[in-house]
Amino acid sequence: MAFNLSGDDVCQATLPTPIPNPYWVAFSSTAAKLVDIPLNSSGLPEDPAWLEVLAGNQLNTSQESFTNPIATAYSGHQFGVWAGQLGDGRAILLGDIAGQELQLKGAGKTHYSRMGDGRAVLRSSIREFLCSEAMYHLGIATTRALSVVGSKKPVLRETLETAAVCSRLAPSFIRIGHFEHYSSLQNVARLKELADLLIHQHYPSCVCVKEPYLELFKNISERNAILVAQWQAVGFCHGVLNSDNISALGLTIDYGPYGFLDHFQIDHICNHSDQGGRYAYHRQPQIMYWNMACLASALLPLLELHLSEKESQDMMRSALEEFPVIYAQTWQKLFRAKLGLQQTLDEDIPLLETLLQAMHDSRVDFTSFFRALSTVDSNSKLEDISMRDDFIDRPAIDQWFESYISRIKVENISDDERSSRMNRVNPKFILRNHLAQYAIERAQQDDFSEIEKLMHIFSLPYEDQPENEGYAKPPPPGINPIEVSCSS
Ligand code: AMP
Ligand code: MG
Repeated sequence: MAFNLSGDDVCQATLPTPIPNPYWVAFSSTAAKLVDIPLNSSGLPEDPAWLEVLAGNQLNTSQESFTNPIATAYSGHQFGVWAGQLGDGRAILLGDIAGQELQLKGAGKTHYSRMGDGRAVLRSSIREFLCSEAMYHLGIATTRALSVVGSKKPVLRETLETAAVCSRLAPSFIRIGHFEHYSSLQNVARLKELADLLIHQHYPSCVCVKEPYLELFKNISERNAILVAQWQAVGFCHGVLNSDNISALGLTIDYGPYGFLDHFQIDHICNHSDQGGRYAYHRQPQIMYWNMACLASALLPLLELHLSEKESQDMMRSALEEFPVIYAQTWQKLFRAKLGLQQTLDEDIPLLETLLQAMHDSRVDFTSFFRALSTVDSNSKLEDISMRDDFIDRPAIDQWFESYISRIKVENISDDERSSRMNRVNPKFILRNHLAQYAIERAQQDDFSEIEKLMHIFSLPYEDQPENEGYAKPPPPGINPIEVSCSS
């Protein structure tokens, strides 16, 4: 059920601002199935009114009527600094549909737009759309994207671009920033109302325990610890892990200047605006933990309703300490699986760390390497392993492969079984920036076929798809890295 708190301090009734002559840029039929929208043979909604609704031009289809669109207030920490009130500056929650909230991003100004125009450009909308759906098919929790609707309406960024509206779905768009908002206003009644709503709708098991709000915290923190470990395992860098971009359901949310690693560089920074590297790949777990600390402090007043300040803080602190433990366990489990290891041996983590260091030193392509690793088996000879060529320090990587081959001999599953398990966790296809960029450039010329192609490829990221081999490859040498920043 949609954010069903009401009051001017919480949200504002907000109508989308229409855009001229909307047209479909992208549409996810799998996301549409999630919300039971009947589709025609082209995979688009049967009812043409959906185009107008998802453009923000009207509120009714023949099936649905969105009577109460709102924009919500939230606050948060941006780049580690308290930023005060932010809110849905360009997102409008249309309402509920089949158990999901439907939100339009880029549908015009809201009460919370501050200096912004409430718009999103075609480029950033396509990036959000493609990555939401790719993430879903990788099996990682995420908001979904239903559509991108374009218009020739000009929008000024660094250059003149055109507007688009991305529609997205989630069981709830509540963020850590919503809690920080009421907490910063010292509005404990609102804080409680929001926590109760979240528990009631999404964390019902918290009701049965002695400290429901502590349990709520633990649940949110656990989901986000698992989420960030999953990101690390597929080489996903979010780019803007501000506390207002962290979901209370542990979903990947707010795709902006994100990037999947091509070559492995532990301190890779995907967001061009992040000069200090606060959100670099290797810092993501620590930053998520920091965000959970923000949530912990925001929720403290709810514990203090019936516990002393000291008791509340002690309990919350030890709940927070579960984050690094859950993260480390999940990371180890996921990376062991990437190596095809089922048994848990002490030597596995040093084996992994040595590999990652060598990959970093030689800037080896993260996705291709792990995918190819499934071809190494317990009978492999060093000279048959072509990936050795990607490493600068040949003797060191040869030693590593020897250790790896000895290690997999200890496993009690067959080479074939291990290989197919590895291919189910090491994707062959990830949404590399240069692929998204090419699809965007085509779309800017009104050719949306490349978006469809990518949608198709990334719907089966663990399949071999020999006909799409080129899409699995790292960017061609010499291609300039695409700079993505917060401005979109
Ligand atoms: P982001 O960095 O995209 O998470 O955005 C941070 C804050 O700025 C959020 O409150 C957004 O709603 C707001 N914002 C971003 N872009 C715009 C825009 N074009 N117009 C209005 N608000 C925006
Ligand atoms: Mg945001």
